[in-house]
Amino acid sequence: MDTGEGAAPVSATASSSPEQLDARDPLAHLRERFIGSESDLVYLDGNSLGRPLRVTASRLAEFVESSWGGRLIRGWDEEWLELPTSIGDRIADVCLGAAPGQTVVADSTTVLLYKLVRAAVALRPGRTEIVLDRDNFPTDRYVAQGVAEECGLRLRWIDVDTSAGVTAEQVAAVVGSDTAVVLLSHVAYRSGWLADVAAVTACAHEAGALTLWDLCHSVGSVPTELDRWGVDLAVGCTYKYLNGGPGAPAFAYVAARLVDELRQPIRGWMGVRDPFAMGPDYEPAPGIRRLLSGTPPVIGMLAVQDMLDVIGEVGIDAVRAKSVALTSAAVAWAAERLPEVRLASPSDPARRGGHLTWTHPAMREVTAALWRRDVLPDYRDPGGLRLGLSPLSTSFAETSAGLDAVRAVLDGRDARAR
Ligand SMILES: *Cc1c(COP(=O)(O)O)cnc(C)c1O
Repeated sequence: MDTGEGAAPVSATASSSPEQLDARDPLAHLRERFIGSESDLVYLDGNSLGRPLRVTASRLAEFVESSWGGRLIRGWDEEWLELPTSIGDRIADVCLGAAPGQTVVADSTTVLLYKLVRAAVALRPGRTEIVLDRDNFPTDRYVAQGVAEECGLRLRWIDVDTSAGVTAEQVAAVVGSDTAVVLLSHVAYRSGWLADVAAVTACAHEAGALTLWDLCHSVGSVPTELDRWGVDLAVGCTYKYLNGGPGAPAFAYVAARLVDELRQPIRGWMGVRDPFAMGPDYEPAPGIRRLLSGTPPVIGMLAVQDMLDVIGEVGIDAVRAKSVALTSAAVAWAAERLPEVRLASPSDPARRGGHLTWTHPAMREVTAALWRRDVLPDYRDPGGLRLGLSPLSTSFAETSAGLDAVRAVLDGRDARAR
């Protein structure tokens, strides 16, 4: 699998200073395009909510003044109705390795997961199982549980090492003639484990099952080749590494070979062949638009376009190379400066995405103390400090400062930490 690690622009070792690494980073100049990059705040949670780009402020103001305020209802025909597919195609082109016509922006990841798990099950009539892992993100597990209950199916759980993730061998061991769909994350939300999508998809296909990949923690950071890897279905969000803003809608990918057979459960007027015919019966739109239900969330789709422009400018492989360099530096520095913590993420950069977790019994309190000093990582049970190093808005100096702050808090140098 090509994960881009070969192209790392900077060799990140504990012996390189953060300043040297920033000076050699070919993408360093992009950081100042993000609001807040000038402040001393250390932001290590860009994988939960990306920072806004400065141009987004003017895009939003201009939208209210000119598009909404000026075009009014005409805006729908002139531009807005096409945004779900035009922005979908742009995500596909810049990040997903997918040809046009297979990606659409809508709803939230949770709702799109529901639509696609239901659709996958309907595409495999007579098959009775959904395969998934116990450490997937809660929403993925809950949606699968709901669909299983609704459709009378069984869940086939894979137990995983929470410091790693699901392997193709584990999938091969559980899929069979009963499997309708295999639902997994590309990058595990806790450990950062990077699944081998091509190998897992091949295992599922061998058993006649479909795959549904959750790309929330990879899109915009780790490249995918959805078409080449033979992926059937995928979802992802736009507010993490795509910097679309809080509550920005999600996207779904359906392989062209499946889309015209696909039936999704939330039938609405925007997903039909001709919405304005206001016809008596639901007739799904040809192609990927059939995944739509109601009116597209236009305002929510504005900001993501700015991040797609920036990623498109440098290429997703360069973003991945920076990400690998950042996580490698962080792993090396933490080993040196924080000997008492345990890395609960893959040490091989080819097997991890853009975030890292370290465990220590005091991490919950450590995280709270860090937030009080404007260092913002994330906490994940049990005892995990998670650093999300959003490649374009995070510098090596910022990463290093964050680890120094962890050292200071663990040493009790922050009075409020106790
Ligand atoms: C963030 C995330 C989600 C979010 O789903 P929402 O519906 O946007 O709340 C889903 N799955 C994974 C793996 C995530 O990391």
